[in-house]
Amino acid sequence: MSDESPTDRRQFLQRSLLGTTGLGMAMASTSDVVAKPVPGEMDVDVTQEVDVLVIGGGTAGNIAAIQAGRAGAKTLLVERGAQLGGTTTTGGVAFPGLFDAWGKQIIAGIGWELVKECVELDGGTFPNFAKVPKRHWQNQIQVNLFLYAILAEEKCEQAGVQIAFHEFPESIRATPKGWQVDCLGFGTRRRVLCKQVIDCTGGAEVVGMMGFERLREEETQPGSMLFHLGEANDPGRHQLHQLYVHGADSTNSRTVTKANLTGRKSILAKLRKEKKRLMHLQPETGFRESYRIVGETTITVNDYTSGRLFKDAVSNAFYPVDLHTKSGVKPKPLKPGTVPSIPLGALIPKGSRNILVAGRCLSSDRLANSGLRVQASCMGMGQAAGVAASLAAKNGTTPLDVPLAEIHRQLAKNGAIIPGKT
Ligand SMILES: Cc1cc2nc3c(=O)[nH]c(=O)nc-3n(C[C@H](O)[C@H](O)[C@H](O)COP(=O)(O)OP(=O)(O)OC[C@H]3O[C@@H](n4cnc5c(N)ncnc54)[C@H](O)[C@@H]3O)c2cc1C
Repeated sequence: MSDESPTDRRQFLQRSLLGTTGLGMAMASTSDVVAKPVPGEMDVDVTQEVDVLVIGGGTAGNIAAIQAGRAGAKTLLVERGAQLGGTTTTGGVAFPGLFDAWGKQIIAGIGWELVKECVELDGGTFPNFAKVPKRHWQNQIQVNLFLYAILAEEKCEQAGVQIAFHEFPESIRATPKGWQVDCLGFGTRRRVLCKQVIDCTGGAEVVGMMGFERLREEETQPGSMLFHLGEANDPGRHQLHQLYVHGADSTNSRTVTKANLTGRKSILAKLRKEKKRLMHLQPETGFRESYRIVGETTITVNDYTSGRLFKDAVSNAFYPVDLHTKSGVKPKPLKPGTVPSIPLGALIPKGSRNILVAGRCLSSDRLANSGLRVQASCMGMGQAAGVAASLAAKNGTTPLDVPLAEIHRQLAKNGAIIPGKT
């Protein structure tokens, strides 16, 4: 007869079954195992103080956060999705451009560092920037979107940036030292006290919550759902197929839900018609246009197409004027030699303190925006906003009052190309 008590035997069984195998895990959930109540609840409320809060970890946002972290600012990056990269990764537009113009590189810095590392690690290829291409997209870079998202996380970690996925701001109020931003996630309420905010949500959602003016067209450009039918998708080598999602609107969870349902429904119809297998589907629609801020400076299409060098320029930009309509797009290339610039004033909501934006929501008229919204330009602005915010936090001032020479010095130190200085 065994001298084991029933309790001993149960504990032994639990220990051996919970060992290392998946089978053990499955069997341990039988009625033999008694779940113990967990003492106390999970911490729902988190309060923290940071120098710079970046909201939105997309194309511009992750670069802004890495830059702020590298400049020594205590930085938190809040992203409502599950990964970094935004339209580049979650939207599937893994084709950043344009880093070059008229035979030379005009945007570099952290965005380029990330793209370059991604292509090299993935064994991909680069276009020859010394050669002016016949079509602008020939000098865009194919990146592996999966790798890109992970490398962005690694760079955030190395820069000391804390990431909070699945969270978004619920309310914001100004404080004497900056902002109090209350964020929500599942099982988490986070109160952030920060000196500077960088809104990289694409549609200037934070700026809207703060009550500053934004602009929006009655009819916006279509979004697109990206997918692949037939053959297997080869990330970093081929672009995904795109279907327009007319009326796609990134403003809130209801409009994004509608766009995603519409996009997926069209793809289902297409595969039924073409009788092909669905080999790849992005989880979210890519949105081309929503709100833009009204900034201290607004870039007009004339500024853009004439290559105006703004006095407070912090980054270059380059792309044709590229407005998509119901019937498609006819890009209008810039005249030879033209390189537009982005002023700091276009990243600062008019009359604001301690808030910057970076990305497609910068202050610009619609046609200028159709060229400025592309990824290399968003990365350039992201880095500039990261520098301006971190210096403002350090100096105890607002971004508009940071001396431009200091911004340029920090940008150059971090590999960026300063407009008009090449
Ligand atoms: C279909 C399509 C094709 C395109 N083609 C090209 C191309 O070939 N080459 C090119 O260079 N550009 C292209 N563009 C343009 C370019 O991709 C985008 O304009 C650019 O990526 C926008 O960057 P962003 O940082 O402003 O926004 P996004 O990259 O969209 O990032 C916004 C981020 O903020 C997060 N977010 C939003 N709201 C909140 C919130 N309230 N709280 C927390 N997080 C939030 C989102 O989840 C997202 O991660 C294309 C765009 C589309 C849609």
